[in-house]
Amino acid sequence: MTAFAFDLLATDKNARRGRVTTAHGTFETPCFMATATAATVKAMTVDMVKATGAELAICNTYHLMLRPTPERVAELGGLHKFMNWQGPILTDSGGFQVMSLSGLCKMNEDGAIFQSHVDGSRHELTPERSMDIQRLLDSNITMCLDECTKNGASHEEAATSMRRSMRWAERCRKAFVRREGYGQFGIVQGSVYADLREESIKALTELDFEGFGIGGLAIGEGQEMMFNVLDFTIPHVQADKPRYMMGCGTPSDIVGSVQRGIDMFDCVMPTRSGRTGKGFIKRGSLNIRNARHARDPRPLDESCTCPTCQNYSRAYLHHLFRCEEILGAMLLTQHNLHYYQNLMKELRGAIEAGTLDDYVADFHENQALGDVAAVG
Ligand SMILES: [Zn+2]
Repeated sequence: MTAFAFDLLATDKNARRGRVTTAHGTFETPCFMATATAATVKAMTVDMVKATGAELAICNTYHLMLRPTPERVAELGGLHKFMNWQGPILTDSGGFQVMSLSGLCKMNEDGAIFQSHVDGSRHELTPERSMDIQRLLDSNITMCLDECTKNGASHEEAATSMRRSMRWAERCRKAFVRREGYGQFGIVQGSVYADLREESIKALTELDFEGFGIGGLAIGEGQEMMFNVLDFTIPHVQADKPRYMMGCGTPSDIVGSVQRGIDMFDCVMPTRSGRTGKGFIKRGSLNIRNARHARDPRPLDESCTCPTCQNYSRAYLHHLFRCEEILGAMLLTQHNLHYYQNLMKELRGAIEAGTLDDYVADFHENQALGDVAAVG
């Protein structure tokens, strides 16, 4: 069996180039996960997702506990088999969705009691149950259940919330069933307060998790504040374990976070945008529904090697979106995922070459250009 491991292969200032090994294979870092919330990357087959370069998938405990239930997934051989994804899988704890998606939700020291957003049925999610669900799903990386401190919380509110999350982290560590090639990440909370972030890291370090999630960011605090928090948080996190910035972010958020030492990312942005018509390109972004693309025979991005850009014009994609054809969402999602994976690949290459600062300067220069002029 393979032990769960993180190998640091190269650094460029605070940025890190690494590799995580799990029972279901390895993934290179910095990485961007394929968002497979309900055990599917929306509008993509597994082969399409793999072809973008994604190596790690993230699935959602909240959604899967309601449908089809973790017990059924276990009965069918676990998530890898169920969704035909043989690579590593990370699952979130369900906490964020319980608070943001469910109907009535009551939080207390024991956990959360909430109503399903699907049928109104009542459920309980405790640290122990969340660990049990993630084990039944056969997730390679289990995330601790934590309380998501809201943006704008006072120091007192953030402290109370963070300390509850740390007590839950201890319960999660106890409930976690250790297996070769499987790991568990604690989640750093403490909002925008340096002393609280430090206290949280200290508590998690003592519990000796296999990695660290950085929680409570990318929730509306703005990029400057987010980077500021990373600047005072990251130096306290052990260097020999992977760091996962949860729910982040835009291409620019990712580039800045990689510079500050983050190794793993996930965000619904490329897939969600792919279904609503927003495309990420080297020169920023575009909305394919805009009339300016109606007669444009060029690809979304002339520098992109994805199958969408190799085979289809902006005019065709514009037509698909205007007619609400499913293929439009598929092709744009494919391009956006490819864009994100290519960004990660280039970031990894720049860290290896020790040229990350130059790469980042180029990145911002290109983003600032904006989309090419319309044709005709
Ligand atoms: Zn493309």
